[in-house]
Amino acid sequence: MAGIYIHIPFCKSKCAYCNFFSVVSEKQRVDFLEALKREAMARKDYLGGEEIRTIYFGGGTPSLLESSEIDKILGVLSKYYTIIENPEITLEANPDTVSKESLLEYNKLGINRLSIGIQSFFDDDLQYLSRKHDSKHAMQVLEWAKEVGFQEVTLDLIYGIPTLTDEKWRRNLEIFFSTGFNHLSAYALTVEEKTALGQRINKGVAAPVDEDAMLRQYDILVEMTENQGFEHYEISNFARPGHYSKHNTIYWKGEKYLGLGPSAHSFDGVSRQWNVASVKDYCENYSFEREELTLYDRYNEYIMTSLRTMWGVDLEYIRANFGEIYAERFKNQTKSHLLSGKMYQKGEKFILNDNGMLFADGIAAEMFF
Ligand code: SF4
Repeated sequence: MAGIYIHIPFCKSKCAYCNFFSVVSEKQRVDFLEALKREAMARKDYLGGEEIRTIYFGGGTPSLLESSEIDKILGVLSKYYTIIENPEITLEANPDTVSKESLLEYNKLGINRLSIGIQSFFDDDLQYLSRKHDSKHAMQVLEWAKEVGFQEVTLDLIYGIPTLTDEKWRRNLEIFFSTGFNHLSAYALTVEEKTALGQRINKGVAAPVDEDAMLRQYDILVEMTENQGFEHYEISNFARPGHYSKHNTIYWKGEKYLGLGPSAHSFDGVSRQWNVASVKDYCENYSFEREELTLYDRYNEYIMTSLRTMWGVDLEYIRANFGEIYAERFKNQTKSHLLSGKMYQKGEKFILNDNGMLFADGIAAEMFF
């Protein structure tokens, strides 16, 4: 089974830290929707006829789309793809772009999972990030999401914001727990050089990120989510048992997915493909780049993504897919991490603990072939 990701490239304004592809002008909205339809038709065989288990509207800001526009996209997908009964359909929503009515309409269309970009319940943090909503409205949106009947709701929160004290971070988490929602994505603020925030920090007009505060807040996050019965199932993702993001799990478990829209990535099991990151080019002159993955690439990707999850690296899987030499080599490489206490072994699985997950990328890089 596989998933489909749809990149909606429009945003009302650009958040200072944002490194995703999005544009603030919507003048090509109609052209974009047409181009999306063309791409969905043209790539109907990309997944080799596999059943579609998840559909994910990401961005950008998918909640800028009218429900009628989402409906048309879903109609095109159901015409050209085999979609399972009751697929997980997620829509990313920004609080400043939704109303109770729009949430109700999305829900009626079959969107059954909302991912709401809250980031913080404190207005000074939101201002630091240049988010357009305020905390009062965010709380209102969460109420609406419940009232219209969304069963699966995940919030995005960010820690490590210079204006965010440990006390405020605890409060953000408490507010999240009080909503009763079952899933949380909590990201460490990362500042990319070329973003507005990166430039502000470079010029000395915005406070830089304090690494120590970031680490403390990660510990607070791990402790508080665990106390509330959440599983830390991926480095930035926490869920009550059974409430994992099925779509994102496709990425983390190396399954196939089709990405539609500008800048969207796809994976068919043997190659990766990514669409041009320009709305104009996407609409007028669609192009993509493609990379055939070598055995080494596939192994490295498996190590990288698996170490970031609570399912860890499976020695059996390595043996079956890459051979004994890879399995032996991996086993030898785990020794120092098992000794340091960052990793533990459960049967044939090698898993990073909460502390180890912080170093997942570095540990994976050491293990690359
Ligand atoms: S709403 Fe999301 S995608 Fe749009 S600018 Fe902000 S962070 Fe980026």
